[in-house]
Amino acid sequence: MRASQFFLSTLKEAPSEAELPSHKLMLRAGLIKRLASGLYTWMPIGFRVLKKVERIVREEMERAGSVELIMPAIQPAELWQESGRWEFYGKELLRLKDRHDRDFCVGPTHEEVITDVVRKEVKSYKQLPLNFFQVQTKFRDEVRPRFGVMRAREFVMKDAYSFHTDFDSLKATYQTMYDAYCRIFDRLGLEYRPVAADTGSIGGTGSHEFQVLADSGEDVIAYCPTSGYAANVELAEAVAPATPRPAASAPMCKVHTPKVKTIADLVSFLNVDIKATVKAVVVNGSDGPVLLLVRGDHTLNELKAEKIDGIDSPLTFAAPADIEAAFGARPGSLGPVGFKGRVIADRTVAAMADMITGANEDDQHYTGVNWGRDVAEPEVADLRNVLPGDPSPDGQGELALCRGIEVGHVFQLRTKYSEALSATFLDRDGKSQVMEMGCYGIGVSRIVAAAIEQNFDERGIVFTDAMAPFTVGIVPMGYHRSETVKAAADALYAELKAAGIDVLLDDRDERPGVLLADGELIGLPHRVVIGDRGLKEGNVEYQQRRDSAATSVPLADVAALIR
Ligand code: ATP
Ligand code: MG
Ligand code: MG
Ligand code: MG
Repeated sequence: MRASQFFLSTLKEAPSEAELPSHKLMLRAGLIKRLASGLYTWMPIGFRVLKKVERIVREEMERAGSVELIMPAIQPAELWQESGRWEFYGKELLRLKDRHDRDFCVGPTHEEVITDVVRKEVKSYKQLPLNFFQVQTKFRDEVRPRFGVMRAREFVMKDAYSFHTDFDSLKATYQTMYDAYCRIFDRLGLEYRPVAADTGSIGGTGSHEFQVLADSGEDVIAYCPTSGYAANVELAEAVAPATPRPAASAPMCKVHTPKVKTIADLVSFLNVDIKATVKAVVVNGSDGPVLLLVRGDHTLNELKAEKIDGIDSPLTFAAPADIEAAFGARPGSLGPVGFKGRVIADRTVAAMADMITGANEDDQHYTGVNWGRDVAEPEVADLRNVLPGDPSPDGQGELALCRGIEVGHVFQLRTKYSEALSATFLDRDGKSQVMEMGCYGIGVSRIVAAAIEQNFDERGIVFTDAMAPFTVGIVPMGYHRSETVKAAADALYAELKAAGIDVLLDDRDERPGVLLADGELIGLPHRVVIGDRGLKEGNVEYQQRRDSAATSVPLADVAALIR
């Protein structure tokens, strides 16, 4: 590509709204342009990066046996009513009506649609297992869109869904997907960790997130450097929330039922399976109403009907926004940031009100959450008590904490959607069975931001070859003034292109300083500077993005250096 025919638009200063290095650099390098909150245009240079990520994801998904399709972004409400999520998904779901006044939503995820496809297509065990994926634009009306494309409202996701006759088959595909994810993130050159993630009562090793390690990450990971065990602290909290707690200033409210004695009981009793939204539910406890925060998207019917009949009825359900209003809390404070992954049942409504409004500092400290503001880091000692399945068996091991950016998530859904939507097949004996399901997501657009968050310096972005918009930049010193330089630059450009190398020839009529600075800002991994002086000896200046100085190399050797 010739820069004169392309479109580069770089900025000296990042707009003031940008906080994270990746967000600042993506704006400065002109990768993205903001349209509105959480909505970004991928400019040509950014789009090339996005496509590179997408290509690696696609290649590895195909290699792992997943088959690509694409589903509509707009989805009919009926499917979401069938799964129960129309009511339960809350405000992250963007709802709309068509001209006939029918309800639709813009898909934040596609479990319902793919299950509908499969239930109509698959009749027999002979057609299973199946694994479909798509790379598609999702919309989630995030309570707090921020950090550019890191937490956008419209973003690109690769989502895959697998269908099986039995759990063993699901587990095999889950492992295949897990391995494919490792290959994807390895190829992208990211420093990441697969971590055990919240599965609620689904059990087994049912869910893993792929976390890119970065101090600015919104997630906190606890890991054991000796055993390698790593988990999102959300998991620790959700699975074992009954940590001994300091005396509360407000009386605890117990839920009296024969089956439910502890919060952990309650979590499994509610069958809280995990998708990322946090829901608030008010149940009538013996000492008054109890606010339950459950992270999950199980159906309202599940909660109301058999799964909860041990708890005093009737239940009332409250949307987070209504609870915020009732407590006079700042809108959005009861959101995924503040209540991330938490299941809290042992609170009176009054105590909860104090926590939400920040009146009770002790409570905030105990729970490790700074309500509605930033998530505070839990104490390491606390985590040692609550981490389930910690393989340091003597309890002597150290747990370390670090922050991560969730770039992928694999999940054993089991029969949650197939049951609700009656996705069944006939087994060998002609008996009807419900399919087992898995789902596997990758934040394609988030990966670009996460990679930059890990790789930048004072001069700009540092891309790996795999993700760079162009692998090499040719910077001629005087393209418009020196025939020799122009001829050499054009020849090298043609040679590299012919060798299949992604090359940007910066033939813009700008000062050399501008050309050099732009190439560094946009993060091109290799640079070749061509000038009259070097050409006299047949040499050019070659420099990799992280090198502190250039080396003089024969023009004829450049292609071999880059390949
Ligand atoms: P998060 O915890 O960051 O909100 P999530 O758990 O809600 O993410 P999933 O439902 O697991 O997300 O979706 C699969 C992947 O999509 C995530 O691992 C993440 O990489 C990406 N993703 C989710 N929400 C966003 C967003 N708002 N902007 C960009 N990427 C996102
Ligand atoms: Mg998450
Ligand atoms: Mg989310
Ligand atoms: Mg997730």
